Amino acid sequence: MSAWTGIPTARILGSTRLVGVLGWPIAHSVSPPMHNAAFAAMGLDWCYVPLPTPPERLAEAVRGLWALGFVGANVTVPHKQALLALVDDLTPAARAIGAVNTLVIKPQGILGHNTDAAGFLRALRGEGFDPQGCEALLLGAGGAARSVAYALASVGARVTILNRSPERAEALAAALGQALPGAHLSAGPLERQAIAALTAVDLVVNATTLGMWPEVEACPWFQGVPFPARAFCYDLVYNPRETRLMRLAREAGARACDGLTMLVHQGAEAFALWTDKEPPTEIMFAACEQLLGGG
Ligand code: NAP
Repeated sequence: MSAWTGIPTARILGSTRLVGVLGWPIAHSVSPPMHNAAFAAMGLDWCYVPLPTPPERLAEAVRGLWALGFVGANVTVPHKQALLALVDDLTPAARAIGAVNTLVIKPQGILGHNTDAAGFLRALRGEGFDPQGCEALLLGAGGAARSVAYALASVGARVTILNRSPERAEALAAALGQALPGAHLSAGPLERQAIAALTAVDLVVNATTLGMWPEVEACPWFQGVPFPARAFCYDLVYNPRETRLMRLAREAGARACDGLTMLVHQGAEAFALWTDKEPPTEIMFAACEQLLGGG
């Protein structure tokens, strides 16, 4: 007998409206329980399903969603960039970021959104940090970093992007500089001297995979370089709930937060796009915490 979890689960009827998540692999995604908890809590006849999609079948899968009457979908690793070419239209944010994480499917076509950027800003503000005009240090220049850099630059933050492969950071800064004229972006290598040279940082964001399970002792910060005590540390990693970088920040007296709030808020933005209803973010957060543990 399974234990009562406190989170209601979805019932599937003939009338149930469908959404899901395209990814490969997808078995560990927390999005199905997060969204199904939200639908159930709001009494919506909707269901969110995992959609394991190998890269070579992505185009077929996307057209299949449309043919089957899916209302929408999320898109995760490794498909976010490939979706750019598979939708009928893109929002300005998805085009500028160069990645799609949410599909809104209508009979007349499929619109590709990116809710990661808005989700990240909501997560920061939810923690009481206002990023407008701040001095931000972004570690990493991969897929997630693109959304973070766009989000920060779009609210007037000055963003320094440091990455192990500096040419990737430079390409990101250049691309966003074109999409957001007037944005303050600079780029360089993820090296001890580059971090040590930065003064007056208000926000440090980890968008590298360093610190993520199972490599939990990895850390993008350099030993011997003090963490700026006045900065807010936001780590996109949410497994584990406290990374080595977060520990280091807290030990220096700084505030630190893991990436679960961003995960929930990007999902909440997608939920609102599909249902046109206010998302129950606390229920969504509780469903994730039940799977991943408390912070
Ligand atoms: P990605 O596209 O593969 O990018 C990985 C990034 O990590 C790149 O900048 C890469 O640098 C860097 N990196 C990897 N190994 C490194 C090493 N040994 N030393 C230094 N840098 C290294 O991955 P992603 O999709 O952006 O995801 C990044 C992290 O964000 C993951 O932990 C993911 O779980 C998390 N994430 C969280 C959310 C959320 O909602 N909270 C959303 C998306 C992603 P190079 O360019 O040099 O390879």
